[in-house]
Amino acid sequence: MKKIWIGIDDTDSRNGGCTTHIAKTIIKFLIDDGFDLIGYPRLVRLNPNIPWKTRGNGAISFRIGLGAGYKNKIGEIDKSEIFCFSRVKKSSDLTKQVDRIKEIILDVFKDYAHVRDINTNPGFVILKDKPSFDVYKKGVRDILYLNEIKDIIKSLKGFYKGYKNSRGLIGAVASVAWMTSKDSTFELITYRSEEKWGTKRLVEDESVKNIDRLYRSTFDNYDYKNKHNRIVPNSPCPILYGIRGDDAKDLIESYSLIKSEKVDSWIIFQTNQGTDDHIQSKVISQIKIFQSVKVKGRVIVKPHTIIGGHVLFTISNDLDEKIDCASYEPTKQFRNIIRELLIGDVVEVYGGVRKKPLTINIEKIEIKKLVDDFIKIQNPICTNCKKHMKSRGKNQGYKCLKCKTKEEFAERRKKNRHLNHGFYEVPVCARRHLSKPLKRYK
Ligand code: ATP
Repeated sequence: MKKIWIGIDDTDSRNGGCTTHIAKTIIKFLIDDGFDLIGYPRLVRLNPNIPWKTRGNGAISFRIGLGAGYKNKIGEIDKSEIFCFSRVKKSSDLTKQVDRIKEIILDVFKDYAHVRDINTNPGFVILKDKPSFDVYKKGVRDILYLNEIKDIIKSLKGFYKGYKNSRGLIGAVASVAWMTSKDSTFELITYRSEEKWGTKRLVEDESVKNIDRLYRSTFDNYDYKNKHNRIVPNSPCPILYGIRGDDAKDLIESYSLIKSEKVDSWIIFQTNQGTDDHIQSKVISQIKIFQSVKVKGRVIVKPHTIIGGHVLFTISNDLDEKIDCASYEPTKQFRNIIRELLIGDVVEVYGGVRKKPLTINIEKIEIKKLVDDFIKIQNPICTNCKKHMKSRGKNQGYKCLKCKTKEEFAERRKKNRHLNHGFYEVPVCARRHLSKPLKRYK
């Protein structure tokens, strides 16, 4: 066994903890013990709509062995530099060290996993081989079941340890199954020292805006309209801030420019954040709860605002299937875009599906076709009699009372639409981890 995969998940609770922090601690102990990281550690976001997630449904995986090839600095922990290697040494053999690896993981779980929390069900897995990519695809788009996960671990002759209902094994295995080759991004995560956990974080907004402007490969840093510093979490977890981006080198430079309270340690994860991996293309009748979809339709019910400031409208397709779409209050100014839609506009909506009644929680929208919008100037004038015609009733056109000539439309002027064809996305403050920002579109 030249190298092994380790997957971990579900170690945190709403009161604190963080699976990336546990992973970072395990990584440090493994490196101290002589193991090397092969490739970046991975922060893999899974289905954002499952009800039993704590926050962002993130799971961690990484590969260890004896490193060879080129090495990359990816972090600093306890004042030592952390590297990952491009490949494994020919002589690498971990067969006799699996027990030691288990021992290290178990010790860190004992110290940091929030096992006592009613909703926390940690799990970790040690695998020689990666599960099929389909396991990841299902994990990010649908629901996975513990039985199928245990069968997969068994078929790969892996080792696992699950605590309580062991649900964390699902994320642990799905995370290992992720492949970075299709699309991936990076996140540099900084951590606070333990005595600071749960206290107010000090990260200077101006320095965050500065890196946002300087490094175009970074994304979701700062929401200028809503004055929201998006790199700082608002839970009591050990993270100080996380900078996301396409280029790991830019993240390290950005980190050096952020002004904040003391950073205890930092590490870069490769992630599926900002990739839209959760989105599946669907027709309306195929849409199911807990999925995230991209679906095309024509607006048939005009956007209207309901209590709470949420904006709803309905789309339908050629088969007369209908679904409601919502831009909820937290999406702020995005609701003004949605309010501009008119009956007949053709759109493609991207978002997570809420149940009862099925509603798409919009993350992004592509305007495909805009209908003309008219403003009435006056009733039409009969070309024969030169008199104003009379309305025949709502949407029934006009008629000259004298010569009976009919006309469909009033004399009208085309109004400017305040929308263009193309994409619109929710603001940074409402962005989902997995949503691909428009900035990342080529
Ligand atoms: P974060 O680390 O961002 O805070 P989270 O804490 O929100 O993530 P977890 O506490 O890990 O999420 O809880 C999610 C739970 O759901 C985990 O037990 C995980 O194994 C499980 N899970 C994740 N994706 C799926 C899925 N597609 N189907 C079934 N269970 C899933």
